[in-house]
Amino acid sequence: MNIILNGASGCGKGSMAGFLVKDFGLVPISTGDLFREQIAKQTPLGKKLESYVSTGKWVPDEVTIEILMDRIKQPDCAKGVILDGFPRTLNQAIALDKTLNIDLVIAIEVTDDIVHARLGGRYMCRNCGTIHSTRWDKIDKCKKCGGTDLYQRDDDKAEFIQKRLENFKLNNGEILDFYRSQNKLFIVKDKLENTPADTYALVKDTVAKL
Ligand code: ADP
Ligand code: ZN
Repeated sequence: MNIILNGASGCGKGSMAGFLVKDFGLVPISTGDLFREQIAKQTPLGKKLESYVSTGKWVPDEVTIEILMDRIKQPDCAKGVILDGFPRTLNQAIALDKTLNIDLVIAIEVTDDIVHARLGGRYMCRNCGTIHSTRWDKIDKCKKCGGTDLYQRDDDKAEFIQKRLENFKLNNGEILDFYRSQNKLFIVKDKLENTPADTYALVKDTVAKL
């Protein structure tokens, strides 16, 4: 079973992926995480990626598709994957369609206010990448590994948040149309007061029926 999580930055795709991994044993794949891994290693590719990612610009399709395809060919992905942050363009969706059978696309709908509120309070663990929110987590210590280096991503600054959001809106309509025409689209409307668990409650049954 292969699932796509779709939604603007800060809609809670990462948290949703965490629940799905736990309940269904799927392998989580986030293009943002794959890019940050390369950037951390400061490989030539990593340096190129950094120039985009650190300022909230999207990585070109060609590079993004290649990195994603390499990852989904790994043997562990035979268990089924959850894609978080891919595809973000119609080109990416079409390339994916040729390689992997997608069972379901979960699109989480959020307002701009939610995106700004959530990303502004988002802190990541330098050691294990776990996401924390000032809304319900303490940020002095990682809740997963106990690491004490929690940081705000450069691209979570207000000006870059807006840029990512605009990019998202520009591209997402045709991606949703693509999957709607294949009858694979499941839309979940999120509210500011919802916790990740509230939102997950709306998707769990649908995934369990696949
Ligand atoms: P967010 O969902 O908050 O934007 P991610 O961790 O998913 O964060 O992605 C971080 C950055 O990586 C994006 O701002 C963009 O620069 C790049 N990125 C991730 N996925 C893609 C993609 N599918 N296509 C192009 N760029 C991407
Ligand atoms: Zn950690």
